[in-house]
Amino acid sequence: MKSPRKGERNQPFSRREVQGRSVLLHACCAPDCTTVLEWWKPLVERLAVYFYNPNVYPPEEYARRLEDMRVVAKRWSVELVEGVYEADVPSFDSAFAPYADEPEGGKRCGVCFELRLHASAKKAQELGYDAFATTLTISPHKSHGLVNATGARAAAEFGVDYIPTNFKRREGFKRSVELSRKLRLYRQKYCGCRYSLPGG
Ligand code: SF4
Repeated sequence: MKSPRKGERNQPFSRREVQGRSVLLHACCAPDCTTVLEWWKPLVERLAVYFYNPNVYPPEEYARRLEDMRVVAKRWSVELVEGVYEADVPSFDSAFAPYADEPEGGKRCGVCFELRLHASAKKAQELGYDAFATTLTISPHKSHGLVNATGARAAAEFGVDYIPTNFKRREGFKRSVELSRKLRLYRQKYCGCRYSLPGG
């Protein structure tokens, strides 16, 4: 990871870490991906989206989010790599269970980032991308510091680069709301896991 130059510190990402690269972008959902594809599509040499979110419950909700992800990938003409949905595999559920009572942003989310970003780093290595990143940092509810630290650890383990971001900057989140409206995307009412369901 290169240290930011003067003038880059308040940017959502470092342009020189992205330009001309081969990047696998982990997408948490279609709306959050819109802004990033608008910014990165003209810059990245080889760009694909990886939809890996087995944290999402129930399966109908997952299917709905994936459907919109396909719409967004098509809109920006990027390849969509569809991850496995492990609804029947208890890995996420059993990892979350001890943190059932944690609020969003607490320890459960740290575990959730870890599982998704490790899988993304592994996929980037398998598919021959030299770097990966995630749209998770666009969410006003998520700490970009924690997401980036987790991503960097995963990258080191699999021998790829991680591109640190804070997509909330330059009104990234606001732009995602505008683009989602324009594309008539479904905007989910909760983060994803069963514990984040309203009344869950
Ligand atoms: S609230 Fe969101 S980030 Fe946190 S564990 Fe649930 S799905 Fe993952």
